[in-house]
Amino acid sequence: MEARWLMPTFKRAPACFVRGEGARLWDSENRQYLDFLAGISVCSVGHCHPAVVDAVQDQAGRLVHVSNLYYSEPAARLAERLCFSSLGGKAFLTNSGTEANECAIKLVRKHARGRGIGEPEIVVLEGAFHGRTYGALSATPGFRDDAFGPYLSGFVSVPRDDPQALRGAVGERTAAVLMELIQGETGVHVIPDEMLIAARERCDASGALLVLDEIQTGMGRTGSLWAYEQLPVRPDVITTAKALGGGLPVGACVTTPELGDVLQPGEHGSTFAGGPLVATAALAALEVIDDGALLRQVRELGARLADGLRALPGVSEVRGRGLMVGVGLDEGIDASEVADRLLDQGLIVNQPVPSTLRLLPPLVIGEAEVDEALSILRRVLG
Ligand code: PLP
Repeated sequence: MEARWLMPTFKRAPACFVRGEGARLWDSENRQYLDFLAGISVCSVGHCHPAVVDAVQDQAGRLVHVSNLYYSEPAARLAERLCFSSLGGKAFLTNSGTEANECAIKLVRKHARGRGIGEPEIVVLEGAFHGRTYGALSATPGFRDDAFGPYLSGFVSVPRDDPQALRGAVGERTAAVLMELIQGETGVHVIPDEMLIAARERCDASGALLVLDEIQTGMGRTGSLWAYEQLPVRPDVITTAKALGGGLPVGACVTTPELGDVLQPGEHGSTFAGGPLVATAALAALEVIDDGALLRQVRELGARLADGLRALPGVSEVRGRGLMVGVGLDEGIDASEVADRLLDQGLIVNQPVPSTLRLLPPLVIGEAEVDEALSILRRVLG
């Protein structure tokens, strides 16, 4: 059915999952797996977390959708919680990460025009991933394929580890610097603090805005609700999605108070975004994740996982922060072959690039699951 009815855009691994609980998935033959990918950092509360399931069941029985032409309490509560936990301004709710970045791109361009910039530019980093819609894709240098051109103009890219180049690229025409704190899709690369500091300083000097894409790093993944909290800079805008909805599709673009009213009625919108069902799911997911004890455990388990990985045969490098981990493999080891064998042995991971495995387990795992994953990895890599 897949081959006949679905466009062949995804290269799928040979498993069809039908049930999940916590960090476990079961396939259609009732084989059990330990899920160290969590829907690519979506199922951070684990599969079918009872608090999310209960909230969704209850909301689904009362009201699933209402147009954004009317008020909706779950959306307002979600926006309040997001702003309160981060930049204190206002939020625009979306259905996905790429749409959260579209909102940010429109917002910073309008803000730049307000400063008299006719042709605003957005500075991005090489190795970035910001999504698959045209604005976000135009901000994603490595994924721009000529087959789909022309892209949006007005994006300038610099190497991800060259603060001087970044300083040089931010000038009078710059609307914003848009960056991730850890580049997930291109192999889990931690962006050096010097890049962040350079971006903040040049944005402050030129009037440009700093936008942090926290779609993969946010919602507790690195051991604080937002990854920037552990770093020396504060952004003007953040974008989030992935784990925000506890498995349901919801994202957000969140601003400081000064930027909360840049986008005015009619200037942006979405039919589904922030609907009662997904907003309720997100509030339940935030209740689980925005918890000091859980976030401390993410940092501790992340350290245990990284230490264990460093001791494994075939591992040349361990990168990341908290439970966002990239495992560089020795030359000659094919990460996709390793991932296939791990799947066969009941451990789900993925390989964002040919030489790297990526581990993004649910944040609710314990030491036992970390040790179990390490033992499967030891067996396969050995
Ligand atoms: N930004 C980052 C950092 C991401 O990792 C992703 C997805 O992997 C996106 C944006 C796009 O999110 P979505 O697939 O929900 O559109």
